[in-house]
Parts: sequence; C-alpha cells; structure tokens
Amino acid sequence: MNQPSSKEVDIVVIGGGQSGLALGYFLRRTGRSFVILDAGAQPGGAWNQGWDSLRLFSPAEASSLPGWPMPQPSGTYDTGEFPSRQQVVDYLAAYEARYKLPIERPVRVERVRATQNGYEIETDRGTWQTKAVVSTTGTATHPFVPPYPGLTDYTGLQLHSARYRSPDGLAGQRVLIVGGGNSGAQILAEVSRVAQTVWVTLTEPMFLPDAVDGRVLFSRATERYKTLQTGEIPTPAGNLGDIVMVPSVREARSRGVLHAVRPFVGFTQTSVQWADGRSEAFDTIIWCTGFRPATDYLRPLGIVDADGRIATEGTRATQLQGLWLVGYGAWTGFASATLIGVGRSARATADEINTYLQQLTPAFTAHN
Ligand SMILES: Cc1cc2nc3c(=O)[nH]c(=O)nc-3n(C[C@H](O)[C@H](O)[C@H](O)COP(=O)(O)OP(=O)(O)OC[C@H]3O[C@@H](n4cnc5c(N)ncnc54)[C@H](O)[C@@H]3O)c2cc1C
Repeated sequence: MNQPSSKEVDIVVIGGGQSGLALGYFLRRTGRSFVILDAGAQPGGAWNQGWDSLRLFSPAEASSLPGWPMPQPSGTYDTGEFPSRQQVVDYLAAYEARYKLPIERPVRVERVRATQNGYEIETDRGTWQTKAVVSTTGTATHPFVPPYPGLTDYTGLQLHSARYRSPDGLAGQRVLIVGGGNSGAQILAEVSRVAQTVWVTLTEPMFLPDAVDGRVLFSRATERYKTLQTGEIPTPAGNLGDIVMVPSVREARSRGVLHAVRPFVGFTQTSVQWADGRSEAFDTIIWCTGFRPATDYLRPLGIVDADGRIATEGTRATQLQGLWLVGYGAWTGFASATLIGVGRSARATADEINTYLQQLTPAFTAHN
C-alpha cells in the first residue's frame, strides 16, 4: 500500500469493529473529516475470532447497529433464531460498505502522542495528524490469563478462549476449563461431549433463567439503567455478565456436567495442585478468563493504567482533551460492548467531538 508519510484529518478513530463503525455512522453526519484505522485484515473485528458454534445471544432484530437493522438470516445461512458469528461478520462488512465509511485496513496503530495541535498517530502504514482521537479497539486482541505459581512449568497444551475453535482434537483428553462466564460455560458444554472435563470458577456460576436471552437481558438492564438515572435503587435483575442458557449449555446441564469447583493453587509440569493438597493431571487447559482493553498504543500519553483502562467521564478521557474511548463495556458507556448498546455511546461521543472541535481554539492545550 502506498501512503504519503503524513495525512491530516479532524478525527482519527482507531479500530474498525462494531464500535468503530457505529461511531463512523454518526461522524459522517457531522461533515468533519475522519478516518477509521483498523488492524484487522478484513471487516468484522472480534467476530472473526471465537468458536465455530458461537451465536449471538439475541435475535437479529435486537442486535443492530444504528441506522440499518441486521437482516434476518436467509439463503446460505442456517436460519437458527440467533445469528451465527459469520452472519455478524457479513453484516458488519455490508454496514461499512453501505455507509461508505472511510476505513483504512490493515493499518496497525503503534503509538499515539500528544502534539501542540492535537495528536500524532504513528502506524505501520504512515502517520496521521489529528485534533481528536477515538479509541475503539475492543478487548479481543488482549486475552488475559491470571498468573498462577508454576504456570510456566506446565507443559500441557494451553489455549485461551480467543483461540479456541472447536472440540476437534480434544477427544478422550482430560481438559480443565477455567472461567465462569459465557465463554467458559459454552466451551465446557461442547468439550464435555468428547473429553473428561473439570470446570473451575472463582465463585459459583450465575445462570440466568432459561427464558432470558440477550434481548430480555438488554431490556431489563435498560430499565435498571433508567431507574438509576432517576436516583432510585433498582430491584435486582439478571446481570449482563450472567450465563445465558443457550441450547448447548442447557444440553450440558441435562447431562449433569454443568458443575464448577473453586480454583487450584498452582501448577506442576503436568498437573494442577488443588487447595487440599491433591494434584490432578490434565492434557489441556482452556482459559476462559476474559480480556483486557487493547490500549497499549495509548501508553505514550501516560494515562493508561496497568489493566489498560483510562479515566473517563462517559466516553471522554478526563486527563487529556480530545480523546474518547468507545465500546469497552460499562466503564465507557452502558452496554457499550454490545451491538445494540454501542449506538447510544457512539451518538453521544460524535456529538461531544463535534462540539469540542467547534470550540477548539487554534492553540490546542493538552493538560495531563
Ligand atoms: C463469547 C462472546 C459472546 C458475545 N456475544 C455477544 C452477543 O451475543 N451480542 C453482542 O452484542 N455482543 C456480544 N459479544 C461482545 C462483542 O463480541 C464484543 O464486545 C465486540 O466485538 C466489541 O466490539 P468492538 O468494536 O468494541 O471491538 P472489536 O470487535 O474487538 O474490534 C476492534 C478492532 O480494533 C482493531 N485493533 C485493535 N488494536 C488495534 C490497533 N493498535 N490499531 C488498529 N486497529 C486495532 C482490531 O483489529 C479490531 O478490528 C460477545 C463477546 C464474547 C467474547
């Protein structure tokens, strides 16, 4: 790709997954110049990874980005009620083409530095100068594995859920699955059909009632959010992080394998050591232990904490002007890490950026 060494735009959005696209949808309307830089080789962001059987928690009509509803599955898709991840990838690809979003791909942002007039964005394909930056890089490229004594000595196979595709190759093995969220439950459900599994969770897993899918969960959480806005204490409802009883997890429950134990204390070459002193050998460990924000390229700004977070008010960074973070979950906006939820954060952010650029005096001052 031939790029001039430096380009200038009003706004640089870093990351072209669902959050970057939702933001692009609203930025188009401002008439400002902007670019979306995405390291991915193809559209779809995190939906290009994940296991083969992964499906959305919500039907298509409850899983849409702003402006254009996700089409109902038809034709070559298998037409289950909940869209497959390939359907989401195709939807996101069609969405960015439909709105002619200015995406440069693959472009990996390596460093962001504050300058007198805004920011300099250093990438593997040249440099961009800009007045405003929005980070929408998600978490999927930063899998997290908790540190345990002896883990580096363990010689069995270790796999994070980010890289897990299917139970193929695990038949007959002893497999340890670590993590009490939806990834852990869904991967346990299918691996336990071919392998001997032990499921480890920090606390007893929380299962939602069978009838609660992503759509119900989102509307309950929205009610709770609205109640909180009024200053009242909401009645407890399903948590967005609790385990959704998708068909495979219900089936695992019927086989009696949906039981979890509390964590081990360390590892040897072949085994985990339990708190009661026993050790137990496993061929493979699958870490379903989550992710951290992919914000390393913002570290030169000196405001990123050890977990990759930045202090924000809404989506706006509080320690530097002209920087926003969208789509990372509750700390950057209610339900912002979901397809249906990110639109609200994206709209508010685009409005804020537009106001910010209108008010910007020629002498930009960073104050960290
Ligand atoms: C098991 C599981 C099930 C889920 N189910 C649902 C569901 O049913 N419904 C729902 O709405 N959500 C669901 N989610 C959440 C959803 O997948 C993610 O929250 C979502 O993909 C986040 O979108 P994003 O655009 O913020 O980040 P991503 O999709 O991760 O996109 C970020 C983009 O930024 C790029 N990038 C990263 N670093 C750089 C860099 N340095 N320079 C340039 N580009 C960079 C990446 O390549 C990527 O393309 C689920 C997630 C998981 C793990």
